[in-house]
Amino acid sequence: MDPFEYRGEQLYCEDVSVSQLAEEFGTPLWVYSQAKLVHEFQAIRDAFAAVDPVICYSVKANSNLSLLKILNEQGSSFDVVSGGELYRVREAGADTTRVVFAGVGKTDAEIRLALENNILMFNVESEAELVAISAVAAELGVVAPVALRLNPDIDAKTHAKTTTGKKGNKFGMDIERHNALADKVLADSHLELRGIHMHLGSPINTTEPYEKAAQKAFDVVTELRAKGHKTNWVNLGGGFGLNYRGNEAPPAKTYADVIIPWIQKAECRLALEPGRSIAGNAGILVSQVIYTKREGGKLFIIQDAAMNDLVRPAMYDSFHRIWPVRPGVAAPADFEAEIAGCEPADVVGPVCESGDYLAKNRWLPEVHRGDLLCTFSAGAYGTVMSSNYNSRPRGAEVLVNGGEYRIIRRRETYDDLIAHERV
Ligand SMILES: *Cc1c(COP(=O)(O)O)cnc(C)c1O
Repeated sequence: MDPFEYRGEQLYCEDVSVSQLAEEFGTPLWVYSQAKLVHEFQAIRDAFAAVDPVICYSVKANSNLSLLKILNEQGSSFDVVSGGELYRVREAGADTTRVVFAGVGKTDAEIRLALENNILMFNVESEAELVAISAVAAELGVVAPVALRLNPDIDAKTHAKTTTGKKGNKFGMDIERHNALADKVLADSHLELRGIHMHLGSPINTTEPYEKAAQKAFDVVTELRAKGHKTNWVNLGGGFGLNYRGNEAPPAKTYADVIIPWIQKAECRLALEPGRSIAGNAGILVSQVIYTKREGGKLFIIQDAAMNDLVRPAMYDSFHRIWPVRPGVAAPADFEAEIAGCEPADVVGPVCESGDYLAKNRWLPEVHRGDLLCTFSAGAYGTVMSSNYNSRPRGAEVLVNGGEYRIIRRRETYDDLIAHERV
């Protein structure tokens, strides 16, 4: 299901013309498809239906309140990594008793907020954190539900900055420490071990890492139960792949097929924390060409979306498909190939950094000042990583539902840029 398609000479989001949205709301503009967001959530839910999973949408992928509300209405739960994200989840009207809380640096204030909201469990990343959670729980006179985050030393074969389940990452703990801390939990009346947590990295386009992780979870749960723990949750995190280029990501069912048997064998509840695979292809970034120039034998397309809007290319060398909103040339199947009627160009923004680009050496049709460009697969890790670098106000976000649309975050103004400053 792709809600962004060319009809005639124009790009549409569901039944709304993207150029009409750009005209009405300006650029840079984030455009989301409600149907796609819901479709991807339901695809994961349906693929894992045999084990009735709790799907905790990873809020950090895209935390816009309207998107959280839609997912909440679909029955999604949430994975948060900060007090701020927990606040958003509450504002979206979600039931916090199904929320999981990860992150290596939870503060006492965040732990307190989470306990007051009766979250499902903390994904604990270190011994020091376990001590802190126990102390806050004791102070509040409650029992804190925890899962220990195991670093399973599995190579997810993704980007160095997005692999998290390999020895030497800051995340989780090795199996020896995991087992030692499990013993500590058993001896602590303010802690209860609900499950085991792993998150391997992202995006992971193969199933082997998940199969290994699920098997490991089964082994660990079996061992924990023999020691007297009532552990009955396996949380395998997120990281499912996304089609940035074409069809490189397997469908949810492919992951489900290797995970479900181990969950059934372990007789556990399954929690998942997908973010990118739900929101990524539900959003695009629309920008406008400001200038083109040829320098040093290269063609540069300078447009008004920059690294402060979408930092992924600068930060992770990420690939995003880019194509004009009203192209004279049909969009290709392979955006990395040489394309007839096109010329390679660097698509760059106005920010004063050489790293400020959305694409390099990309074959694109001829574009002119004022033309609109679409950067695809921008729904996850786009707006959430945006900044005001170079004092650039953030663009607006618009949500499309069939033939209707509405602003879900207004464009920032110059006043917004200085609103928090005191002179
Ligand atoms: C980032 C993160 C996720 C979500 O990863 P996606 O690739 O967006 O699915 C899930 N769990 C944890 C602990 C994370 O840090």
